[in-house]
Amino acid sequence: MTDIISSSEIVAQMANGQELSVPIYRITGNGQGPSVYIQANMHGAEVQGNAVIYQLLESLKQLDCYGDITVVPLANPIGCNQKSGEFTLGRFDPITGANWNRGYHFNSDLPNQFAAQYPDLSMPEIVVKFRQCIIKDLEQKQLNSPYGLTTAQHLCATLQRMAFEADIVLDLHTGPISSRHLYCPEYAKESASLFNIEHTLFIPNGFDGALDEAMFCPWWQLQLAYSQQGREIEVAVAAFTLELGSQEWLCLEEAKKDCASILSYFSARGVIAQDLHTPAVMTRYACQLSDYRALYAPQSGMVEYLAPLGQPLDAGQPLVRMLRMDRYGQDDAVNIVPAPERCIPVLHFASASVNHGTELYKVMTNYFTL
Ligand SMILES: [Zn+2]
Repeated sequence: MTDIISSSEIVAQMANGQELSVPIYRITGNGQGPSVYIQANMHGAEVQGNAVIYQLLESLKQLDCYGDITVVPLANPIGCNQKSGEFTLGRFDPITGANWNRGYHFNSDLPNQFAAQYPDLSMPEIVVKFRQCIIKDLEQKQLNSPYGLTTAQHLCATLQRMAFEADIVLDLHTGPISSRHLYCPEYAKESASLFNIEHTLFIPNGFDGALDEAMFCPWWQLQLAYSQQGREIEVAVAAFTLELGSQEWLCLEEAKKDCASILSYFSARGVIAQDLHTPAVMTRYACQLSDYRALYAPQSGMVEYLAPLGQPLDAGQPLVRMLRMDRYGQDDAVNIVPAPERCIPVLHFASASVNHGTELYKVMTNYFTL
């Protein structure tokens, strides 16, 4: 049995002085394995990650953990509570319009500076010292900036400070109406087959503000910086975004599957005992991020989503049927929008009414099996 220690951290302050905090649950490992940070629900409507964290804690407390594990459900208390009518909003800061998952910090100068300053450190020394370096940079440039931070940057920096301590970072999200899919950095390709997730998007070494990128970019670029000096090192940190189905949806039974999936990855990485959990046998499809295409509505109207999620679709097969009742009696009152090429639909828009240009589907093209 393993103890779970609970605490909380203040991440935002509202106009009336009220402080908003996130719950934190910590497991102390025996020091033999890599450390882990997991957060969920950064986007307000994407609640299923909380159920997965619940099932994970239920499992982990019965296991021996080798690495330290920190989990933060309900990671965005502003987003979680931003309701309008029946729906949760919480994808964008309502004041600035910024996506909550784009407020993380990355200083692209640090990897090259570090590699130039410390060409001969051992790998364990690099991990300790570079981690200190990126944490100090986050504290100086973000958390203690004399110019302050936006609300989203403050929330993100507080979470990022915790995540920087970990060797493995998992950010749990969902799509709008979506099948499970994984964002996996290209350098960690082999890891995609350790999760029980049928669809993987391989992402390049670029920073666009998201947590997974903010975690792996410093270490990936450090590897490249040493490589340019003729020295090959491993990328010491792995970070993934797991998309666990649809928003506004929670299922504790389905969460058990994602819990098993994460435990399979943990087993392979030595966070828990090897071979305790093994990956499920399944066909895993993947494509490059640049081949993950959005299809935008060619006209406005009411939408019937026809293409099932997660199944290969040939070019010309129908994706959606669009209804324009203002055109009743004319040839274009009902229109089919076909798949432009062979693809796998991964997610679609949540509403059945769209403007011209609304993102209808996101599909994997040029996909392959792992
Ligand atoms: Zn999300």
